[in-house]
Amino acid sequence: MTFFDFHTHHSLLKKSIYNLAEQEDPKSDSYFSVGIHPWNLNEEWEKEFVRVKNFSSLSNCLAIGESGFDRLWGPDLALQRKVFYEHAKLAYELQIPLILHLVKGHDLLLEYLKSEVRVPQIIWHGFNLKSHMAEQVLDFPISFSFGKAILKSDSNASHWLKKCPLDRVFFETDDSQLSIDSIYKSASVILQLSEEELTQQVRNNWNKISSRKIE
Ligand SMILES: [Zn+2]
Repeated sequence: MTFFDFHTHHSLLKKSIYNLAEQEDPKSDSYFSVGIHPWNLNEEWEKEFVRVKNFSSLSNCLAIGESGFDRLWGPDLALQRKVFYEHAKLAYELQIPLILHLVKGHDLLLEYLKSEVRVPQIIWHGFNLKSHMAEQVLDFPISFSFGKAILKSDSNASHWLKKCPLDRVFFETDDSQLSIDSIYKSASVILQLSEEELTQQVRNNWNKISSRKIE
């Protein structure tokens, strides 16, 4: 079985959404996401954002991002806010999800959600916080992508996966060297669903929230 990897920084032949690196051009035969990571933000962002916009119009661009807030390693918060809002606007216009990177910025996410009417579908990637942090945003169009943290049965991510509405779940390897198979296997134990059922579930989840479908 081929498991779909919803967020990876490693170029793969298998089914995945590859997160384009800076200055990298997409390949025509694979799915990708494009955006400016908060770590790569500077005052020149507008130039880079033109590129993001151009690539985002390609039909194999499945998501915008990763974009978001990072209080530890990101630049000035006013800049992060401005650029995140632009990414979110673009994702909304294209009706494709935004892959969210969030480090110590829960309040900034809430501030955005409460101030905007046109919120795109957001996939909070690498989620590994206490469940109540996720529960706080369930009224908004937010899903969760689970990665290596669910290999540990007592992690926050594992606890939240157990409770999370099934139609809000995705899986990823991100920048790890793990195989996506190991993530699905672990999730299948946690959720007590077969790997086949899970594969079907996440594919349906995606196709419900995005104008650009996966097979
Ligand atoms: Zn990532």
